[in-house]
Amino acid sequence: MAAETFAFQAEINQLMSLIINTFYSNKEIFLRELISNSSDACDKIRYQSLTNKDVLGADSRLCIRVIPDKANKTLTLWDSGIGMTKADMVNNLGTIARSGTKAFMEAIESGGDISMIGQFGVGFYSAYLVADRVTVVSKHNDDDAYIWESSAGGTFTVTPYAGTDMTRGTRIILHLKEDQQEYLEERRLKDLIKKHSEFIGYDIELQVEKTSEKEVTDEDEEEKKEEDEEPKVEEVKDDKKKTKKVKEVTKEFEIQNKNKPVWTRDPKDVTKEEYGAFYKAVSNDWEEPLAYKHFSVEGQLEFRSILFAPKRAPMDMFEPNKKRNNIKLYVRRVFIMDNCEDLCPEWLGFLKGVVDSEDLPLNISRENLQQNKILKVIKKNIVKKALELFEEIAENKEDYQKFYEAFGKNLKLGIHEDSANRKKLCDLLRYNSTQALEEPTTLKDYVTRMKPEQKSIYYITGDSKKKLENSPFIEEAKRKGVEVLFMVDPIDEYVMQQVKDFDDKKFVCLTKEGVKFEESEEEKKQKEEEKASFEKLCKAMKEILGDKVEKVVLTERLSTSPCILVTSEFGWSAHMEQIMRHQALRDSSMSSYMMSKKTMEINPKHGIVKELRRRVDVEQNDKAVKDLVYLLFDTSLLTSGFQLEDPSTYAERIHRMIKLGLSLDEDEEVEAAPAAAVPAATTGASSMESVD
Ligand code: ADP
Repeated sequence: MAAETFAFQAEINQLMSLIINTFYSNKEIFLRELISNSSDACDKIRYQSLTNKDVLGADSRLCIRVIPDKANKTLTLWDSGIGMTKADMVNNLGTIARSGTKAFMEAIESGGDISMIGQFGVGFYSAYLVADRVTVVSKHNDDDAYIWESSAGGTFTVTPYAGTDMTRGTRIILHLKEDQQEYLEERRLKDLIKKHSEFIGYDIELQVEKTSEKEVTDEDEEEKKEEDEEPKVEEVKDDKKKTKKVKEVTKEFEIQNKNKPVWTRDPKDVTKEEYGAFYKAVSNDWEEPLAYKHFSVEGQLEFRSILFAPKRAPMDMFEPNKKRNNIKLYVRRVFIMDNCEDLCPEWLGFLKGVVDSEDLPLNISRENLQQNKILKVIKKNIVKKALELFEEIAENKEDYQKFYEAFGKNLKLGIHEDSANRKKLCDLLRYNSTQALEEPTTLKDYVTRMKPEQKSIYYITGDSKKKLENSPFIEEAKRKGVEVLFMVDPIDEYVMQQVKDFDDKKFVCLTKEGVKFEESEEEKKQKEEEKASFEKLCKAMKEILGDKVEKVVLTERLSTSPCILVTSEFGWSAHMEQIMRHQALRDSSMSSYMMSKKTMEINPKHGIVKELRRRVDVEQNDKAVKDLVYLLFDTSLLTSGFQLEDPSTYAERIHRMIKLGLSLDEDEEVEAAPAAAVPAATTGASSMESVD
């Protein structure tokens, strides 16, 4: 029957060229990718069969076969999985690009490794690392069998399959390139399966040649030859007898992955390498895991699990709607599903691994998982064990630093979402501070360093450690030797909305109003006196600034800067205001409410402030004072992390100051540009034309 020809979607075509043309020595990963696809296909039909046994039909044994054929130079991957309909073939193998297609190419172009391919959902095309032509024969229960074939080059064909031997499943026939014949060697294939696919849940059978010696008489031999040419017979001459020994070569399937599933084994008997290999098999990751936890829970309910923390975050960790492929659910060793969202809260979405329950029913469906009580208990235990795993990682500083860089945001999300584990999660937080500039500190350590009279934990938020280190907000804290934590992650703002205290010490944000350091009686008295003597200035400044500020008060936190702007304790900080400004879909009514009025704090010890007081005491309506107050306000906006409301007026004032500094006349006219200068562009253009 006629073959239909289809063009590969443009990105897939690009991907295939890349795979074919990139010089890459580690081509062997193709086998792992194809076996993994076969295993997925078996998972899918097995899952269907849990509710409807009939779907398995005659092929009830789900397995994967690897068949080398030296005569035809082909390697075939065979599975009795779900198979593909004609439409599946057209869509999945060529016309609909996955989001991962482009991402994978970008990753490769920026130095990534081709063996990452499985993570991007385009593993099938790795076949072209070793084959110049690939034929896929597949049969799905809902359709007839079809043949997909392509030698790359932009197109593929789909033809109905004429044979009758396809009942269900897929055969992928790789026509190996001349220089890739090593993948027909038994030894090589055995090693590869062991290395990359040992933990696949279905039997992987390799077709091997077995040679046996057999005694046959000459007559037997003659008869045999007449029947057919097979099996190959090699003569061993033995003149003494009438019979002779012949070597008979037969082909048979040999299971390659006989190990019991890792999680069912005693952790004492599993090596680090085995965990690593198992991790790679469940996660598609090409790197070793950072850490893992293998445990079992017994009692009211029973399950075994291995949880893995990867070394790095996936490229798209916080992308919503992304299908996760993280914790696989098994029931009594039978694979149930891949991305069981109900096993693990979203903030732990980066964990990989398996859970094997003794109690869940085999035919559990996605719909009734959500209400399932057993699953709820499993989930609770997973969170508990995950936290233990993180504590273990934290015992090694270097590992924990890597972990925290990759997944710190997840922990913070956890604090936001999981009130029951908030305390434990807070123990896992790390921040730089005025006393921990290089290596971040735990909150616990912060508390041990607190001054005896200190009651609160001080922190400041902003977008970089560098800016915070020099922020005027922490001047007085620094002077007093009080430690200040630097929070530079936008999500910290959300964390602080949830976490009000740690170890009974209240968190206090140094950019918000109401900051008061502990002080002696004498200091208090001095403050009272200062307050009285600056009252007039504060009032005058408030009058000048009007609605721009809520009030003007003496500061508790400045020591070297003249003034600063703080926000109300319950409103947004400057940093939060900045974050919200950048959120396109924010609710504007909310923002005007949360962008609470600012309070201006002035530093009574500062020369500028003292001089202003003097001038206001002499003449309340001094015009110069008015100008300077505006300038101080605008400058404070900048140093406090806000945006200028009116940059051009600010610039004008600064220019006036510069003139003053240069002793230029304030009213001196700007020298008008000569009239001829205006059409300069045209002159320029015509003179350009004349050049050549
Ligand atoms: P992924 O497996 O990550 O989805 P691939 O590029 O490896 O991406 O495969 C693309 C799709 O082709 C699969 O999602 C699946 O639908 C289909 N497919 C590949 N191999 C098989 C197979 N052996 N049996 C059934 N379907 C398969």
